Amino acid sequence: MKTFYADEQKHHNPKGFLSSGAPRANPERPERIERLLAGAGAAGSSIHRPANHGLGPIAAVHTPEYLEFLQHIHRRWQQIPGASEEVIPNIHPFNRSGSYPASAVGQAGYHMADTSCPISAETWESACWSAWSAVEAAEAVMSGEATAYALCRPPGHHAFAAVAGGFCFLNNSAIAAQALRKNAARVAILDVDLHHGNGTQGIFYARSDVLTVSIHADPAGFYPFFWGYADERGEGAGLGYNHNLPLECKSGDAVFLEALAAALGRIEAFAPDALVVALGLDAFAGDPFAGLAVSTPGFARIAEAIAGLRLPTVIVQEGGYLCDALGDNLTSFLGGFSGRA
Ligand SMILES: [Zn+2]
Repeated sequence: MKTFYADEQKHHNPKGFLSSGAPRANPERPERIERLLAGAGAAGSSIHRPANHGLGPIAAVHTPEYLEFLQHIHRRWQQIPGASEEVIPNIHPFNRSGSYPASAVGQAGYHMADTSCPISAETWESACWSAWSAVEAAEAVMSGEATAYALCRPPGHHAFAAVAGGFCFLNNSAIAAQALRKNAARVAILDVDLHHGNGTQGIFYARSDVLTVSIHADPAGFYPFFWGYADERGEGAGLGYNHNLPLECKSGDAVFLEALAAALGRIEAFAPDALVVALGLDAFAGDPFAGLAVSTPGFARIAEAIAGLRLPTVIVQEGGYLCDALGDNLTSFLGGFSGRA
């Protein structure tokens, strides 16, 4: 299996975020990449640099207004007297269907859901290369590879069409799914990250050509709080094409695998031509977020069950934070796909 990744993805280095009101070091650190590269290598994966795919595949899921904002907001922010080094919002609209402010502060509140996605001078470049890794992995699968792994960092599944959030700027899983649509009439996205894939859900919520399924810690007590409930089933043409499986906090392998069996049943009934796995390794028992309790061998069992679908599969890295087993958890997961090319 090939791994796709570019060194520019390391440049984004967010300093802080607010957790329960307290300023803390941002856990979405460039060092994650070293651990994940080592984990992919240990699984026998070769590392490949993606091409620059331009804005086309990114603009296929994000609004032009938002992409213009991401590209230029850091420079605009620096022109505000006394502004912080990183762009961090301090005001938000009730909803985003109203007027669009000209002010950099107003636009930051409009396009950023929370304080955990600070934008620095390097963010746009890193986010683009992260997205291009996902596009390249999708192209590898469309060219006949059974499976490809995109080491996407910064991650993407909390990013909506026009809103960043939760360490995410560009929705790499959605971008990969949309790229796969070139050859595939129907694409399923299975999100196994600890956190609900709210951005991915939002992007495809009214569509029936992309099925979105997410297994995650119950949002009643866990980020992202406002999405991820079982009664969110899609809308309009997309009604019935979104499936959420919230789990009780601290659930381990057995509960996760039971939910996964239900998720895979729904995906089989959709009869997709290709699959995107939004791979969060933060469901691990030893992850700093400590929301679920999947074990290192558990990730192999999760992967084996998914590989049983026998679908062309793009694996997109989402969460998974610094802990001793981060690389091993990826090795375990990718190993579960062994037996496929
Ligand atoms: Zn997560």
